[in-house]
Amino acid sequence: MTSTKYIFISGGVTSSLGKGIVSASLAMLLQERGLSVTIQKLDPYINVDPGTLNPYEHGECYVTEDGAETDLDLGHYERFLGVPTSQANNVTTGRIYQSVINKERKGDYLGKTVQVIPHITDEIKRRIMLLGNNNQYDVVLTEIGGTVGDIESLPYIEAVRQLKFELGAGNSLVIHLTLVPYLSATGELKTKPTQHSVKVLLENGIQPDILVLRAEKSLSSDIRRKVALFCNVEIDAVIECLDASTIYEVPLLLQKEKLDEITIRKMNLNITRVPDLGPWTEIVDRLKNPECVVKIGLVGKYVELADSYKSIIESLSHAGATYRCKVQVTCIHSEEITEDNVKDILEEQHGIIVAPGFGDRGIDGKIFAARFAREQKVPFLGICLGMQCAVIEFARNVLGHKNAHSTEMDQKTPQPVIDLMEEQKGITEKGGTMRLGAYPCNIKEGTRVHKAYNKTFIRERHRHRYEFNNSYLQEFEDAGFIASGINPDNNLVEIMEMTGHPWFIGVQFHPEYSSTVMKPHPLFIQFVRAVLDHSVKQSDKKEDLVRK
Ligand code: GLN
Repeated sequence: MTSTKYIFISGGVTSSLGKGIVSASLAMLLQERGLSVTIQKLDPYINVDPGTLNPYEHGECYVTEDGAETDLDLGHYERFLGVPTSQANNVTTGRIYQSVINKERKGDYLGKTVQVIPHITDEIKRRIMLLGNNNQYDVVLTEIGGTVGDIESLPYIEAVRQLKFELGAGNSLVIHLTLVPYLSATGELKTKPTQHSVKVLLENGIQPDILVLRAEKSLSSDIRRKVALFCNVEIDAVIECLDASTIYEVPLLLQKEKLDEITIRKMNLNITRVPDLGPWTEIVDRLKNPECVVKIGLVGKYVELADSYKSIIESLSHAGATYRCKVQVTCIHSEEITEDNVKDILEEQHGIIVAPGFGDRGIDGKIFAARFAREQKVPFLGICLGMQCAVIEFARNVLGHKNAHSTEMDQKTPQPVIDLMEEQKGITEKGGTMRLGAYPCNIKEGTRVHKAYNKTFIRERHRHRYEFNNSYLQEFEDAGFIASGINPDNNLVEIMEMTGHPWFIGVQFHPEYSSTVMKPHPLFIQFVRAVLDHSVKQSDKKEDLVRK
């Protein structure tokens, strides 16, 4: 029997209440007490993983070290906890059904009718318990995607009901997150939606132990008492969670409300440390009280939803905190950028990022943006497709290969400077078949990235099918665009860096997946430094012009 304890986090009233952030915050507070903690997300959709989902349907697809394509909440978990997650940390309904159906086909249930209860719920329970199996964690937090009352999440809720019963008192806890809306017309906070959503949980056999109430305004003791009484929850287990100016403030707010203390008490957890939130508080202070602002243009084609580039935006804010600098990110739709307007659109930016992506829509705008950054000496970071665009641009405009392209966009290009990886040839299925997860990379000494990492060997996470075509490498390097990071096993170019430019780097991997609050990613730190320097130069230039 495992000694791991389980916390389940459900959500009511509406989606987007920030269950992921609340889960990550509580986990971080428990970690600060010396407990080893991990967080799992159960997603109620039928896709086996979010890898096949369009980013503006569901936000960014986050990639773990072990190569799982996962929900973006796992990014929050890693950024808050600073420990890696894995495939086991994200389970979807599709994955559950897939394993049950595979077992059925093998004959594992021979003679039986395969049903939602018990077969699907058993598989859900198995996946939840899996993380606690070898006692690696003191606490496993499981966030249940969706909102209670949704048809899709019913099997998850039923699995939690059964587990709560099977694990016994003190070994599990249900935290329910709801919304207490403020009606400005009457100047009141309303608790009815919370009461109704708790009622739905009760109808499904679950009594929540703790309620976390999202609210715009502070909850009076009367309101807390009312919620406690109508929802059968102890009054000190009614926790308010006010809107915060940065998500990283949420753990501090929840600690003030004693969410961690109550959790520890209710589950009788063996804590070993007095929490020291000093360093975290310092970072929040830096984020809330910046001394300068820099502007970064993020050029991509999924800009309709800011969540599409969640990890990049968070990585920039971590790096910005290092310099007490607010990084103002403007998402720019690459389809809107043309050769004629690129200057007008990007001129105001102190730094440019060309984002990861797939397919040829908006590709020209990305290439124009890379050219603008190279020629105008604006700090540039190209991530995955962003690096590939910088390579195509350089081939066309510096090396004179006018028709250079990636074979992803133009299969017949006579100058395929970016080409399908050998291992990808012959792959026809789309789901989970890219080059995924962490791979090694050797860094050339004396380069800018070497200075950033201060290491000659790194591992970074990937999600791509195409690569730099090494038959062009000599030509690129002779012209000053050098490969400063190379995979030692297969010579794949992982980092390209421009000499004679203040800061122009393209990476085939995704540094944004591994930046955390306490450990901002070295490339983002160095990039923001370059952007900051550039912004100072630009404002000096402006002042000069005014004086003249
Ligand atoms: N579409 C490109 C490839 O598959 C880049 C992928 C990405 O940006 N993540 O190689």
